[in-house]
Amino acid sequence: MEHRGGCHCGNISLTFSTAAVPEHMTPIACQCSFCRKHNVLAVADAAGLLDLRIASDADTNRYRFGLATAEYLICRTCGVYVAALTTDPPVRALIVVNCLDDRDRFTAAPIRADYSNETAEQRKARRQRNWTPLLS
Ligand SMILES: [Zn+2]
Repeated sequence: MEHRGGCHCGNISLTFSTAAVPEHMTPIACQCSFCRKHNVLAVADAAGLLDLRIASDADTNRYRFGLATAEYLICRTCGVYVAALTTDPPVRALIVVNCLDDRDRFTAAPIRADYSNETAEQRKARRQRNWTPLLS
């Protein structure tokens, strides 16, 4: 099924296509300092597809920190954090559940995930395995 969503003002919009039923997807509660400040629950499907549309790159912040192996898309206009993208190709994405219009269907208990002991290579490999490919 398709899940539509994006930031608040419409600058960043997305369609997440997945065969998984939202009630059966396990949201990830990443325990890194950035995700905890945003209280983020996120989902991904390596067999799914993300169509990401950015109306204005100038109004989109691609925040990086730590190992800089991902960029965090934050709308400069409305301040919403929408998704994380790998900085190495092929680009894959992790999607913030609360940015999806049908966020209330993602009712499965989240898992707390602490990736702080990963090396950069382990982190890149995990994201390539688990995150969602982008529609090119
Ligand atoms: Zn916005």
